[in-house]
Amino acid sequence: MTTTIQKDTTDTATPSPIGHWFSGKVVHSASGRTSPVYDPATGQVTGTLGLADDGEINEAVRIAKAAFPAWRATGLGRRAEILFKFRALIDDNRDHIASLISAEHGKVHSDALGELARGLENVEFACGIPQLLKGGFSEQAARGVDVYSIRQPLGVVAGITPFNFPAMVPMWMFANAIACGNTFILKPSERDPSVSLFLAELLQRAGLPDGVFTVLHGDKQAVDGLLTHPDVKAVSFVGSTPIAKYVYETGTRNGKRVQALGGAKNHMLVLPDADLDMAADAAVSAAFGSAGERCMAISVVVAVGNVADPLLAAIQKRMPNVKIGPASDGQAEMGPLITKEARDRVEGYVANAAAEGATVVVDGRNHALAEQGFFTGVSLLDGVKPGMKCYDDEIFGPVLGVARVNTYEEGLKLINDNLYGNGTAIFTRDGGVARQFQFDVEVGMVGVNVPIPVPVSYYSFGGWKASLFGDTHMYGPEGVQFYTRGKVVTSRWPDPATSRIDLGFPQNR
Ligand code: NAD
Repeated sequence: MTTTIQKDTTDTATPSPIGHWFSGKVVHSASGRTSPVYDPATGQVTGTLGLADDGEINEAVRIAKAAFPAWRATGLGRRAEILFKFRALIDDNRDHIASLISAEHGKVHSDALGELARGLENVEFACGIPQLLKGGFSEQAARGVDVYSIRQPLGVVAGITPFNFPAMVPMWMFANAIACGNTFILKPSERDPSVSLFLAELLQRAGLPDGVFTVLHGDKQAVDGLLTHPDVKAVSFVGSTPIAKYVYETGTRNGKRVQALGGAKNHMLVLPDADLDMAADAAVSAAFGSAGERCMAISVVVAVGNVADPLLAAIQKRMPNVKIGPASDGQAEMGPLITKEARDRVEGYVANAAAEGATVVVDGRNHALAEQGFFTGVSLLDGVKPGMKCYDDEIFGPVLGVARVNTYEEGLKLINDNLYGNGTAIFTRDGGVARQFQFDVEVGMVGVNVPIPVPVSYYSFGGWKASLFGDTHMYGPEGVQFYTRGKVVTSRWPDPATSRIDLGFPQNR
């Protein structure tokens, strides 16, 4: 292995070219189309990403298709061994990977390490592939006849991922896809593409044959190319709801299996009996962590009855302590937004909130670091309601809304009427009410006194309603199901004593 992905994050004067990962090496795009990659903490362009043209898209699929027969024939023990080695290599390179994430995404080092740890869980899950792919066996389904079920890989599968988790979300997908015997093409976000190349290098070092994992950089053209290519059998997508819907509809129309996860508006229901300090700590952490750029971020606190005033005060009191700064500042807890446009969008919601009827309790616009990079401060809006854009839209920034309701039932209705159904949480000491909430709420992932209930890797991740298009959730057991298809074999060994002609439909009795 000679290639080493060591993005130089110090020299901002000359943006480095960022290429695809084809057949085990970096290959630069010849399309002539490029996209700038920024360091959001400085606003400088640090990389130039080559965007695939149709020839490069076809080449990526050709490479993955050619690698499939040998990879699917590779024994389960060997596949597991490669994943174990990959796991060890990630462990050895945690700090470097986290710094690659921070350099292009902007999230602080501890947050990048957290992302990586949650991604790594999926590699650990996939290391158990020999166990996960065990089929069923029924001896003597009929006299001398056995029936067994097996799961086989699909072939070339693709993953299209968002900017906000440039390592974790790809790992949600490719760990299981590869373990199941597929070859995988990753189309990462154009905003923070470098970490995927380093993961490719680590997979190669772990012993993964060239061509099993490909990185294809691009924009809509690459996505459309993958969605319509006849040799791509399945597509996993994570991103915003309009694109998720488009990917689902286009992919399925072209005969592919598709799981497409979309956006979110996650509500945290706080009952009057909740531990107030715990609820306020959780709201601040879950709303402002990663600058609110998480699909499981809490964006609305739903305060029931007389908890609203003390809860609002407790949240407001904590907000000045959120330390905002670049990842290079070891004390920083919240970094910048991904682009200047993203910051303008987020600040626009705060600017319009008062005119919509909400109260701007804390205004995070025009932060002191705003000149230096794409920073904004933390904002708190009281009295948000359906019909206001600051309530209805996914803001995807550090803006927390507070909705006031009189009863649990009113709060539940607000959540169930929402377009999205990704995550939600209830804060209460009453186990009976928490259980009723879990029973009633129309959301895919629920926390009880847990604000960001991202399932562990041996369960599966997925929202309801406009937060997911498709049938299977991502990773865990449903990930294995998504990346394999079932086959059932009915088998009998020759026994001349029972052989005869019978034109009737086979029966088992
Ligand atoms: P995005 O939808 O803009 O981009 C996601 C991917 O789609 C990227 O790879 C991008 O290149 C591609 N893409 C963008 N525009 C396209 C188009 N017109 N046609 C085809 N492909 C296109 O999302 P983003 O801004 O990178 O990520 C943030 C969004 O992702 C938020 O809405 C967030 O909630 C969502 N998200 C959801 C989950 C989840 O699990 N549900 C997880 C993380 C992020």
